[in-house]
Amino acid sequence: MYMNIAIDGPAGAGKSTIARRVAKELGYLYVDTGAMYRAIALFLLRSGVDLNDEDAVSKQVKDCHVSLRYREGQQEVLLNGEDVSGLIRTEEVGNAASASSVYPEVRDQLTRLQRELAAQENLVMDGRDIGTTVLPHASLKIYLTASAKTRALRRAKEAQGKAFDLEQIQRDIEERDDRDMHRKISPLAQAKDAVRIDSSQMSIDQVVERILQLAEEEIK
Ligand code: C5P
Repeated sequence: MYMNIAIDGPAGAGKSTIARRVAKELGYLYVDTGAMYRAIALFLLRSGVDLNDEDAVSKQVKDCHVSLRYREGQQEVLLNGEDVSGLIRTEEVGNAASASSVYPEVRDQLTRLQRELAAQENLVMDGRDIGTTVLPHASLKIYLTASAKTRALRRAKEAQGKAFDLEQIQRDIEERDDRDMHRKISPLAQAKDAVRIDSSQMSIDQVVERILQLAEEEIK
């Protein structure tokens, strides 16, 4: 059995930064499942399909194959063999991922891939439904959250000097959370056995430290 750590939570809670650091400290693989949903969203945006049309989306995704590759420890996400890692970090793709991730055809394809990876490696996997659906038997589950204002501020900082509207960013984040939490399949939720960490008043180092402590207790 491999050690699997699941980190779930809303947009902008710091999941990927924290998960990457925890994985590095433990020498585990880091799997960013949001990147997989973003890759499918990019495929759908390119195809011009109406994201509200479930039948059309379900048909399109049959032609879409997402896979992961690791180079010097960095995850690269491949869309039908093309490395799209640099193209999926926009708000447009993030919102399209939130819209298209509600469909079973999309979720089934990616859940299968995520479970295959977890069966082969010690890893830290972050997303929305890892502890509840993808890896219900994960060794350690974390639900990482922060206030909507804190999360919007963090996203704004990522804009790095570009003009931004903080209230608009907060509205977008709340809208995305609302959709992720209220969709029918695999909604974002805290698993019963997950440890909840609110990072609003915590530094990255403090959160990483806390998770490493919890992981050590599991490994013992
Ligand atoms: O985490 P990230 O912002 O990259 O995720 C983009 C979107 O992908 C999320 O808003 C969510 O709708 C979807 N997602 C998901 N399940 C996951 C990971 C991401 O539904 N495990």
